Amino acid sequence: MPLALGKNFRLPLDVRPVRYRADFSLQLAAGTFAGRLELEVRLTKPRREITLHALELNLERASARARGKTLRASALVPDADSETVTLTFDGELPEGDAVLEIAWSGKFSPGLRGLYRAGPLAVTQFEAADARRVFPCFDEPAFKARWQISVQVPEGARAISNGAVEKDAHEGGARQVAFKETPPLSSYLIALCVGELVGSEPELVRGVPIRTWTVPGKKHLTAFAQGCAKAVLPLLEDYFGQPYAYGKLDQIGVPDFEAGAMENAGAITFREVALLLDEATAPLSVQKRVAEVITHELAHQWFGNLVTMVWWDDLWLNEAFATWMAYKIVDQWRPGWRVWMDFEVGKGAALHLDALRSSHPIRAEIRNAEEAGEAFDAITYEKGGAILRMIEAWLGAEAFRDGIRLYMRRHREANATADDLWGALAESSGQPILELANGWIRQTGYPLVELSEAGGRVTLRQRRFYSDPEAREEGAPTRWLVPVVLRYRDRSGPKEKRVLLGSGDSGEASIDLGADGPLQWILANAGARGFYRAAYESEPLRRLIAALPELEAQERMSLVSDQWALVRAAKAQVAPFLDLLAGLPGESDHVVLDEVVGRLSWLEHRGVADADRPSFQRFVAQAFAPAAQDLGWDPRTGERDERRLQRAAVLRALALVAREPAAVAEAQQRYRAHVDRRPGAVDPNLLDIVVAAAARAADASRFDELLRLAVSEVDPASRRRYLHALAMVESQELVPRAVALALGEVVQMQDFSSYVATLLSNRAAREAAWRMLRERWAEVRKKADSPMLLRRLVEALGNLPDRAHLVAIEAFLAAHPIEGARQAIAQTLERLRIDVALRERLIPEVADWLRARAGR
Ligand SMILES: [Zn+2]
Repeated sequence: MPLALGKNFRLPLDVRPVRYRADFSLQLAAGTFAGRLELEVRLTKPRREITLHALELNLERASARARGKTLRASALVPDADSETVTLTFDGELPEGDAVLEIAWSGKFSPGLRGLYRAGPLAVTQFEAADARRVFPCFDEPAFKARWQISVQVPEGARAISNGAVEKDAHEGGARQVAFKETPPLSSYLIALCVGELVGSEPELVRGVPIRTWTVPGKKHLTAFAQGCAKAVLPLLEDYFGQPYAYGKLDQIGVPDFEAGAMENAGAITFREVALLLDEATAPLSVQKRVAEVITHELAHQWFGNLVTMVWWDDLWLNEAFATWMAYKIVDQWRPGWRVWMDFEVGKGAALHLDALRSSHPIRAEIRNAEEAGEAFDAITYEKGGAILRMIEAWLGAEAFRDGIRLYMRRHREANATADDLWGALAESSGQPILELANGWIRQTGYPLVELSEAGGRVTLRQRRFYSDPEAREEGAPTRWLVPVVLRYRDRSGPKEKRVLLGSGDSGEASIDLGADGPLQWILANAGARGFYRAAYESEPLRRLIAALPELEAQERMSLVSDQWALVRAAKAQVAPFLDLLAGLPGESDHVVLDEVVGRLSWLEHRGVADADRPSFQRFVAQAFAPAAQDLGWDPRTGERDERRLQRAAVLRALALVAREPAAVAEAQQRYRAHVDRRPGAVDPNLLDIVVAAAARAADASRFDELLRLAVSEVDPASRRRYLHALAMVESQELVPRAVALALGEVVQMQDFSSYVATLLSNRAAREAAWRMLRERWAEVRKKADSPMLLRRLVEALGNLPDRAHLVAIEAFLAAHPIEGARQAIAQTLERLRIDVALRERLIPEVADWLRARAGR
């Protein structure tokens, strides 16, 4: 019987949808909707009962037509656990084609999924499994079908869906908009957006009209997104060897949005800050981020929309590819941006997450919709993307691209699995890729590769890397086939050597380099393409550090990142790491510099006792003073982007980490001039620093000013900057106001967890913010009204530094369980335990280092 299907229930495969014809009417003011559906299905065996997904819908009636007969559904039985409804018909539906007719009604969702209200819009967000909140459907990715949607809309409103508008007419006193039928699509990719929207003029690219839409008042911020989509769409078509399949492309900026963006076929929705900007005033980081998000969503039109994973366990096929592809294509569009360096930042975050015991494999077992939701994390996106980049480097870019094209041709408009992809790559490259690839996507974690060298003979050893110094592998050690690329310099110059480590079971390899004389240095991860950490003995490490200028920027970056990871894991002491950082403020690459400043900022916040902080800040100020002197605050005319970004990193170190008084004063003056709209007062790349420094020192009148700006700014990045600045105030009179804002109207649902994270990382506000979370938990849960928002909130708790916080958080989360955030809770607690222990270990070590330095 269909009752009590259970949470892990999946729809049977003998009934499949072929075509949905859905007709909606929305009552925007009332927040309700009604729908009628003609759903063509194909049965491979006779049935009396059909089960579909439906959640919080009121099904009014259902019937089925087959072979000229109509059968009424005498029972419509919902099942809350499986989020389904089972229709039981008067008689048996025969094998073959049938048409289900269903009528239902529902309410807008209070959160940011299903159909919800965002400013003057009603908009949908379905991935992973929320289409079932809007219409009864086969809500699993394997069920692809064609969709014909029409909607009744109010006069003056716009309606956008996946297909182009085919008809917009008055029928029976109401305005009816009908959209063109789509190619086969999974339900999670369907979109509908109705309300007050203004669009850029449509522009044709290879016959595809592209438009960018916003709520009124922001049309002037659409040009960059238009330009980016126009440039990258043809590059994607060329890479995949398949034309864009959805006829038209609409990009829609939504005023309140859970994720960054959503790749609905032909109707991509975005958080405003990920789409809209003014190129003249936006920092480069914002421009790059918007270009990356747009390209990521466009890459999904192939990876995900045209070829779709069979089930959520292969979500990485969508997200890892879109992540990697976005960098590849943006790099082709704007080579001067050097976005692969930014990719390294995301990879660094994935390496940290994946060093936890509570991490998971890229291809993880997913039993239900809730677990599918939890899979949207740095492992699926950034680790997955990094693994693809590593495999691409190993196979060669052309062989890799040919394999992707083969995969696209074979599975277009259908579904595929990881093995289909590896099969295509093996076929096109002629290389046995399956074992290597599966080791990386099916096993949790990654190896630490330890290198030792004597007389031109190199020994490499692998073992799983953990951040927790206490962690050990249980049972047989995990082994990967590690594509190691060594680079070294001997008497005759720099050379490279490729080694596939781990083909034997010892996890060790010994290689004779055949070097010309003694090695000057050797690097264990050339080009930083490998997803592993490298460890060296002290003498080779010293020689490598001496050779830093000879290394590529991403190699210097991974050296800093690896050394820090080794300190965290208690495999290295902090003193040599601080020596390494102290030597890097003159670094020429801004991303490496950002990494250095990021580590110093962590240490300033969590690695020193209050009494030692001034001395640590003096060290940072002195280290960065020469670079700051050279760069100044104002760019020269015609200055390169790279230098502007170096300046941002250096001034961040000086004004925000070292809190050097002159830099802080200068930042505040520039803030004043910027708010007073003095042209050229601040280079856009310095705005985050200037506003943060001003916010920390804010008095009541500046707080009011920031609040006014956070509400009135039209540009989403500016608005977001002022909003988060409110959470940075340090005056004890203002902290209660900043904390109170979190649950008020100024902080939208989409910004709630990042606003709270900012409060929790503010030394002056964290206790008050943590108290608010505990005391007003019921309101907090309403404000973070989805598993994704709650997961981000849980992760924000990781900003609290002390053991007392850890104990309190453990107790609080045990007493207030959060479904759909089990993984985030386990990871946050593990990370906090490591960070708290690290802080306790580092405080005396850093203090010793500072004293020794003062004595030097
Ligand atoms: Zn994506």
